[in-house]
Amino acid sequence: MKKINIVLLRKDLRINDNPALVNASDLPTVVVFPAEARPPKGSAARVWLGHSLASLNQQLSGKLYLAAQPMATFIRETAAQFNIQGLYMAHGLSAEDKAFEQTLMPLCQQLNIELHFTDANLLWDLQTLQKADQSAYKVFSAFYRHAQKQPLLKQASQLNNIELLSLPGGALETEFVPEMTSVWGKKIIENWPGSAPGEPSAQQRWRRLCQQAFNNYQQGRNIPSQINTSLLSAAIEWGELSVRQMHHDLCQLSPSDDIEHFKSELAWRAFSHYLLRDYPHMDRENINPKFNHFPWLDNPLLLHKWQQGLTGIPIVDAGMRELWHTGYMHNRVRMITASLLVKNLLIPWQHGCKWFEQTLFDASPANNSASWQWVAGSGMDAAPYFRIFNPVTQSERFDKNTDYLCKWLPQLEKLPPKYRHAPWQAPNNVLQSCDFVLARDYPHPIVDLKDSRQNALSAYQNLKQLGKLQ
Ligand SMILES: Cc1cc2nc3c(=O)[nH]c(=O)nc-3n(C[C@H](O)[C@H](O)[C@H](O)COP(=O)(O)OP(=O)(O)OC[C@H]3O[C@@H](n4cnc5c(N)ncnc54)[C@H](O)[C@@H]3O)c2cc1C
Repeated sequence: MKKINIVLLRKDLRINDNPALVNASDLPTVVVFPAEARPPKGSAARVWLGHSLASLNQQLSGKLYLAAQPMATFIRETAAQFNIQGLYMAHGLSAEDKAFEQTLMPLCQQLNIELHFTDANLLWDLQTLQKADQSAYKVFSAFYRHAQKQPLLKQASQLNNIELLSLPGGALETEFVPEMTSVWGKKIIENWPGSAPGEPSAQQRWRRLCQQAFNNYQQGRNIPSQINTSLLSAAIEWGELSVRQMHHDLCQLSPSDDIEHFKSELAWRAFSHYLLRDYPHMDRENINPKFNHFPWLDNPLLLHKWQQGLTGIPIVDAGMRELWHTGYMHNRVRMITASLLVKNLLIPWQHGCKWFEQTLFDASPANNSASWQWVAGSGMDAAPYFRIFNPVTQSERFDKNTDYLCKWLPQLEKLPPKYRHAPWQAPNNVLQSCDFVLARDYPHPIVDLKDSRQNALSAYQNLKQLGKLQ
């Protein structure tokens, strides 16, 4: 029987710096994407995945095998025709990924296939990042200080030659990802302002950013009406770009505050994955269990209005619309919309986290839950609960000229700019002179920002007094 290797790709949908591909390349290789690795919940992420796989398939001259059957079945079927020497794959980072890996171990043992795991999507070996007393870091700054002194995980060597083996079946069908052809799936990919899914476009965008030396990243990254960030989060999440390559490239540029800041954002990603390793259920369970006593309010109507961008608070509604129309939301606005949900509406952060998981191209089991818990105050190194964003002040500060508001809520253009951040504050004569009618042109706010802030603080104070929170 012919000797072959199998490479399973999941969140390392790339050719460059892909240790599994390099290590397997001494024998004819079947490259497989297992259907089990589709994100179980995220619709937008599935749209991205479909396009990304199509791109990877092109890079592999149409030889990517899409295993619709369970992986165990696929391996057994292939082992009946070939002598499989090795199965190569990168460690996954989520609880689902780990469960999947567990199922392969006994099977490979039984069939005498060597199972080789690599690390493809991390900057550092997380095991080495612990305090002197062997406990895990709880604060990002200390984590990052320590990490910067550790060696980075090595990039894979260049993939020079690999003989790709094509198996019958496994052709890439769009039905594999039905969301790709849905009206919404087509719309978000068309409206998405970043580079197209797949390694070649991500590399191209990355090279351009490096040439521009991330000019104005540090200041500009907070302005949602402008593109000052990389827009590479989905490419990073799907492993189309290697974070190690990114870090290496950044180190070749002349040092600057912008570049250092960008590096620190990649480190935040590492910190989220570090948390996910220790809290595999952090997409639903509070990292700080003291928040289990928090008196959240389950209000489906308010949740629905938040999801639809109908809260009557412009910066929040603009963000929720950006998300629905493009599969993306600017980071500053993610923080503002999340804060309104958990702090002013007191809706459990898990609901917001789930909605983001459904609608973000970059939906990440690590970054999404860590960020939601950061906003809610229940996470590690989280924003203190009593720090509550005022969405109007945030809007005035970061969308001064209201370009972002007017892009997503064009009806606000009728108002003088200073009232666009909070139309309910406009005096009646102003509203009348612009023919702007609250409730007709734009909703009344669903919550009083001052009162709800006070409610949130009282709930927090009560818990503190009961000794349930620090
Ligand atoms: C409530 C909430 C939910 C979020 N959900 C996600 C998510 O599901 N997936 C996701 O990748 N990011 C998430 N983020 C973090 C951040 O908003 C996005 O990574 C960023 O907006 C992506 O745009 P960019 O690639 O242009 O970012 P850039 O500013 O160019 O950042 C470069 C890269 O650094 C990483 N990064 C940046 N900010 C963070 C952060 N705060 N935490 C961890 N990694 C970060 C990302 O990989 C990003 O692509 C969330 C933030 C909040 C407040």
